[in-house]
Amino acid sequence: MAAEELRVRREQLLAELGVVTTVERDPDASVSFGKRVGDGTTEAVERLNRVGTARELDAMLRDVDRALQKLEEGTYGICDRCGKLIPEERLDARPWSVLCVEDAALRS
Ligand SMILES: [Zn+2]
Repeated sequence: MAAEELRVRREQLLAELGVVTTVERDPDASVSFGKRVGDGTTEAVERLNRVGTARELDAMLRDVDRALQKLEEGTYGICDRCGKLIPEERLDARPWSVLCVEDAALRS
């Protein structure tokens, strides 16, 4: 059942986000690189990676939430943008899909 899978996924994402945001609390905070080449730069790059990860996790979490909402509404499996059916293979691979392949590609 997709709902169960989505809830498990949601818990995982929240846990991962918790780890990431403990280090970097604000994913939108600007990242400043050190002036000198060396430790400072490495640190900035690492921070940049973490910010990217937090953004990705956050976006996925929003999709999971939306997918759960769609299950309740009875629109699960229907693209939020164009109203077409999302292919089953896509839902199997990513149960939190809320857009068809075309619209998901447009969004990013
Ligand atoms: Zn669509």
